[in-house]
Amino acid sequence: MIHGGAGAIRDPSRYEASLRAIVESGASLLSQGSSALDAVTHCVALLEDDPLFNAGRGAVLNAEGEVLCDASIMDGRTLRAGAAAAIRGVRNPVRLAYEIMQRSGPVLLVGEGAERFARERRLAFESEDYFKTQERIAQLAKAKRRREIALDHSEAAEAKLGTVGAVARDRHGDLAAATSTGGVVNQRAGRVGDSPIIGAGTFADNASCAVSCTGVGEDFIRTSLACTASFFVEFRAMPAEEAAREAIRHLVAKVNGQGGLILVDRQGRCARAHSTPRMLTAAYVGGVARVDTP
Ligand code: ASP
Repeated sequence: MIHGGAGAIRDPSRYEASLRAIVESGASLLSQGSSALDAVTHCVALLEDDPLFNAGRGAVLNAEGEVLCDASIMDGRTLRAGAAAAIRGVRNPVRLAYEIMQRSGPVLLVGEGAERFARERRLAFESEDYFKTQERIAQLAKAKRRREIALDHSEAAEAKLGTVGAVARDRHGDLAAATSTGGVVNQRAGRVGDSPIIGAGTFADNASCAVSCTGVGEDFIRTSLACTASFFVEFRAMPAEEAAREAIRHLVAKVNGQGGLILVDRQGRCARAHSTPRMLTAAYVGGVARVDTP
């Protein structure tokens, strides 16, 4: 299952073809025997390459007009995790998160140190122009005029585009989750949201489920929301649908939080829930791709 962000998305049809193609591509990898980890990395990298979404190319701009990206990944089989925050120039931030998980020792690397590690691992870099689209430049100008710091999908934001994520279960029953974002429009330089925080924006544990979140990052950090959803499955024995719904209920009850999540459990049941007017998701279950944009 994949997502393209949550918010007040005015024209979801714009995103549907892309979400469908990407979830089908991930499903075909899984059917050829790829791991859940490889499938989520692949799907998130494709979402990063698509300028429609707020991650990688076409990510939102911060208050200084820069694209700084965050991403994370977690392996439900081993509970290993990798994350990168406030990075510049790395074409696919999720691939950097993957390399950090596999080889660095630390779970989270930030800024220049993370970029140096990406060079050591020979990951692809792109120029500033590759990441900055005209739509994003106009979106930041509008946010500045209105003096607002907005979720990409907020009512006020000019373009309706979103943070991305993926969760998967493979044929061995292993689970994985990944999330990638440019953050929120016009955010202060140095601000980091929930997307690279394991337990807040991303979590996976074979004992429960895999979760990827999107929304106002501070709300998800303060409620450790991805981990909370997983605990609902593991310790309260909730089925996927109920755990997703209860986690979002918890987010609203505790901090009046705005956002959504996707979740896949050990049985491969997929669920989504959101407190925003809409969320963009696509799931591939039982041989059929289903795109949901309400
Ligand atoms: N969660 C992201 C952040 O706060 C934003 C989003 O999901 O659109 O950085």
